[in-house]
Amino acid sequence: MKKIDLWMLACLLLITAACKKDVSGTSGDGDGEPTPVTEFKANTTYYGGKNQVRFIVGDLSSPIILASPHDGTLAPSDMPIRDHKDAVIVQDINLTDLTIKIANSIKAKTGIRPHVIINDVARARMEPNRSLEEAYHKSEAANKLWREYHAFLAAAKSMVQKNAGRGLFLDMHGHGHTKKRVEVGYLISASNLDGPDQSLNGLATSSSIYHLSTISPYSLSQLIKGDFAFGTLLEEQGIEAVPSKQQPKVNGDDYFNGGYCTLTYGSRNGGTVSAIQLETHGTNFRNSPTERTASAPKVADAIIKYMKNHYGFFLDK
Ligand SMILES: [Zn+2]
Repeated sequence: MKKIDLWMLACLLLITAACKKDVSGTSGDGDGEPTPVTEFKANTTYYGGKNQVRFIVGDLSSPIILASPHDGTLAPSDMPIRDHKDAVIVQDINLTDLTIKIANSIKAKTGIRPHVIINDVARARMEPNRSLEEAYHKSEAANKLWREYHAFLAAAKSMVQKNAGRGLFLDMHGHGHTKKRVEVGYLISASNLDGPDQSLNGLATSSSIYHLSTISPYSLSQLIKGDFAFGTLLEEQGIEAVPSKQQPKVNGDDYFNGGYCTLTYGSRNGGTVSAIQLETHGTNFRNSPTERTASAPKVADAIIKYMKNHYGFFLDK
């Protein structure tokens, strides 16, 4: 068993002892002895902290995990603002609503609800998409909540591996870059994406979709910019995306290629769950409720086609 797996297992045991199932929406903490959770039940919401992070468990056969780490607004007094000079604290506004709408749309279209993990605490106080060392938290309470969030992600990954065999984790974010398009991150740098396909094809082991590359007839460059690349499927839904067949190169524009969660829960470090970081734009995509209602089923369609083409899921949908 690899070191990271042991760490995840330790976290999972920690969270199962600490968190409490809460299907009624009432407090999940601080009202007596927590109920140990030995198994996460389908279509049940589990909370960490004082209802500060959520694991909305989907259908057990789900091969899909969605997460919204940066749209929290809670400001717990025991988690002071991260004021380190390298701490990024901007909120990814509307991402949680968009993520839940995408999950609802996938359920409506396939009958299978994805697993969803949400951080409801402001990023200024707890940062899930950095290592603990680089999160620059100001309190142990924030560190503890970080561990609970990651235990939920680790649990979701292990459920997908156990029940679906293989799957996809989409880490949902928002950017404020000039170009209004979705940036699809695989842990591959912009310069490598823009280089020759032959060089890119040699980087599969360092990508967050390494496992997919081992079972796919397509090369890594095809998986990233070909007919069935995630960016290409978004473009076919009318959503601009880079990299894709339509926009294969970053060409010096701002681009995020994936963060800590994409690295930790994708397949670069092993396992059968691959990960993609989706950095979404605001204008005409997620800024208003009307835009989110329109965008969510399009993203859901792209995800369903991706799962169909690459993994053989939802073939009758
Ligand atoms: Zn973000």
